[in-house]
Amino acid sequence: QGASSEALQGKSSIPGVKRIIAVASGKGGVGKSTVAANLAVALAKSGAKVGLCDCDLYGPSVAQLFGSHERPMANERDEIIPIEAYGLKLMSMGFLLEDRSPVIVRGPMATRYTQQFLRQVEWGELDYLVLDLPPGTGDIQLTIVQTVAVDGAVIVTTPQEMALIDARKAVSMFAKVNVPILGLIENMAWFECDHGQRYYLFGEGGGVREAAILNVPLLAQIPIDPQTRERGDAGTPVALIPAAEHPVSAAFQEVAAA
Ligand code: ADP
Repeated sequence: QGASSEALQGKSSIPGVKRIIAVASGKGGVGKSTVAANLAVALAKSGAKVGLCDCDLYGPSVAQLFGSHERPMANERDEIIPIEAYGLKLMSMGFLLEDRSPVIVRGPMATRYTQQFLRQVEWGELDYLVLDLPPGTGDIQLTIVQTVAVDGAVIVTTPQEMALIDARKAVSMFAKVNVPILGLIENMAWFECDHGQRYYLFGEGGGVREAAILNVPLLAQIPIDPQTRERGDAGTPVALIPAAEHPVSAAFQEVAAA
């Protein structure tokens, strides 16, 4: 009830949360959730108190990415207590589903669920709340960024033209609602073989070009990396590895520091 009346009045912050960072992408499959999870881990490693809210009701991945299948409890105020992993507070539809059955809800209900995830969760005191937005730039995404006071957005894209076109749409969606773009992250930028040769499977230089066109920083170029995928599947994000021991972990640490 409270959430919906707040929503009508425009953007509002979440009590106790200092900064809300949205991680978005124009299309699915570009690695948005992987980036959101690793960014959250990297921020936590730098000493910040971090929450990660999976706003993708239809394809929640945060539970998998953190290897947690606990069921959240409610506190005495009827707020959901987030699941904790590696010092992060996590909330995802994935924690609430009995099995892995798909969520079937229509737009307005989806919006209401998401509002609940943001506002009826005991986030406590956080330096950063990272929002893993659903892919795309439809109504659900727009409602989230219109009603929550998002401090900045990170756009994830691959260097492929098709992904870049959609990344542009994401950038203009945030512009419409006056959310500053913190920058682009080019994911799956290349694959480097054991001999150090780089293969640009999705094209070369797309992220650099696009960042220049959009006049936003290119925060990182993340290669296609089997360990990043494996550790995501295993619930132990690659950013948990010390930065000095893994280039992808180092890249996320750099973004977190910036
Ligand atoms: P999205 O949230 O954009 O749909 P995901 O984060 O779920 O994308 O990633 C899609 C797939 O690609 C997952 O299987 C993930 O493990 C894999 N993936 C993402 N980024 C990388 C990367 N840099 N290297 C290798 N695999 C990756």
